[in-house]
Amino acid sequence: MQLFSIFGNPVAHSRSPLMHNSVFKHLHYKACYTRTLLEDATKLKETFFHLQLSGANVTVPHKEAAFHACDEARGFAKEVGVVNTLVNENGKLIGYNTDADGFLYSIASFENINNILIIGAGGTAKALSKRFLQESIKVSVLNRSAKRLAYFQEIGCKTYMWENFHLTHYDLVINTTSAGLEDSSLPAPQELLEDILDNTRYVADVIYGKVTPFLALVQSKNIAYKDGADMLLGQGVLANELFTHFQLTKEDIKREMQKSFLL
Ligand code: NDP
Repeated sequence: MQLFSIFGNPVAHSRSPLMHNSVFKHLHYKACYTRTLLEDATKLKETFFHLQLSGANVTVPHKEAAFHACDEARGFAKEVGVVNTLVNENGKLIGYNTDADGFLYSIASFENINNILIIGAGGTAKALSKRFLQESIKVSVLNRSAKRLAYFQEIGCKTYMWENFHLTHYDLVINTTSAGLEDSSLPAPQELLEDILDNTRYVADVIYGKVTPFLALVQSKNIAYKDGADMLLGQGVLANELFTHFQLTKEDIKREMQKSFLL
């Protein structure tokens, strides 16, 4: 029996145990997935091996610490310096990042995405923008304040604040701000958002578990969208493939993981 866990602080709200256990149970994979509250990020590696884990996910606020704890980071994790998935490979801690690819997987049904507007300039926006640029997708970033925009200019994104936003057509608009998560705010002034939404084919939001004022506005305009649950599912499917060493098919993992969203 293999053991997996998610590390975070807080971690009680995480849906990862439900998602992965649903796959293990229904696909008869001998494993169990639990959660571990980790207060001190410097104890990540020691705790991982003490618990004799085969793999783990890492969430807020330890994703950068997880990168430093790894013996080796692979793929996109190496490029962004952020790890959300750990695999025990013969006693070595190998780090991956499935967040950005999980997002791409979640929007696979969106066609011809060449020009994206990201609202917000935090950690999630950084990972997504870097991944989109790798795919030769044009990326613009709109944030309420200036200080975090420098990074995006350096990597080749157009950047705007509300005051100097220049409206154009986008294929996809993504809200990566936490506006509406615990309050009833929109990620930008309503008038500006209405103009933006009237000029995009698709929308995605990273928040899950509730209809934020932003998503309510999107729904009122009948635009095709994905919410944060799709991104959560996407990163989970790719992490599970790594955990089970690709013995299960992506389609089977996705189907069983989706069942846990109904619980
Ligand atoms: P950060 O704190 O790094 O960045 C938040 C960004 O949102 C900043 O640019 C901030 O602007 C902006 N912002 C915050 N509040 C408002 C507001 N009221 N109006 C306008 N802009 C606002 O957060 P993360 O990138 O780490 O996470 C963002 C969200 O993504 C969280 O809600 C998180 O739960 C979610 N998430 C979901 C995942 C999933 O699987 N579905 C995966 C990862 C994250 P400023 O720079 O001015 O402060």
